[in-house]
Amino acid sequence: MLEVENLFFQYPRGACVRAHFRAAAGAACALMGASGAGKSTILNLIAGLLTPARGDIRFHGRSLLADKPAARPLTYLLQSGNLFAHLTVRENLAIGLHPGMKLTSEQNRAVERALARVSLGGFAERKPPSLSGGQRQRVALARCLARDRPLLLLDEPFSALDQNLREEMLALIRELRRDQKLTLLLATHRAQDAEELGAEVVEV
Ligand code: ADP
Ligand code: MG
Repeated sequence: MLEVENLFFQYPRGACVRAHFRAAAGAACALMGASGAGKSTILNLIAGLLTPARGDIRFHGRSLLADKPAARPLTYLLQSGNLFAHLTVRENLAIGLHPGMKLTSEQNRAVERALARVSLGGFAERKPPSLSGGQRQRVALARCLARDRPLLLLDEPFSALDQNLREEMLALIRELRRDQKLTLLLATHRAQDAEELGAEVVEV
């Protein structure tokens, strides 16, 4: 269970963002609101990239606020995949597991499994600029999967994709949720995204 309790954050002399909601383990939850409503800020707070002024974030009853971002039980698919253009696909996954890309054999297997999972088994030695937008998005998702954390944060994962790729990505995320028992937290401005993922809606 993810509990976001009376969370409050203010940008210096700027916008205030508040959040209060729960998501059951294994559930999908959609943070829904217009552009500028605070969805990305809330995900950044949960991920530990921003620090709240007040409130708490607990996972399975334990507060995450003292944990550094990398130590939190989550992985985060950013709005713009954030792949390193000069690294291969395999290295882009490896860097998500170890900053120096020195992997154990088990981690190497996790990388291969994650690439296979998003149907990119044959692309490990390619670099992102040689991939399509949809493939790059799948690499970014595979990097999340290889990290094998129970909570997956997704920031507008479909917004840069055309209709076909959107369907493909939706189907993939639905499967992942079913197979890997992930708790999903999705930021979106489209009600349809929440509906198609069977997500419970939290208005932001
Ligand atoms: P959403 O993801 O729902 O579009 P954001 O969380 O990005 O919304 O933004 C929420 C509010 O915070 C907006 O008013 C936005 O302008 C403001 N904001 C976002 N990022 C920053 C920042 N780095 N500095 C100052 N204000 C910001
Ligand atoms: Mg946003």
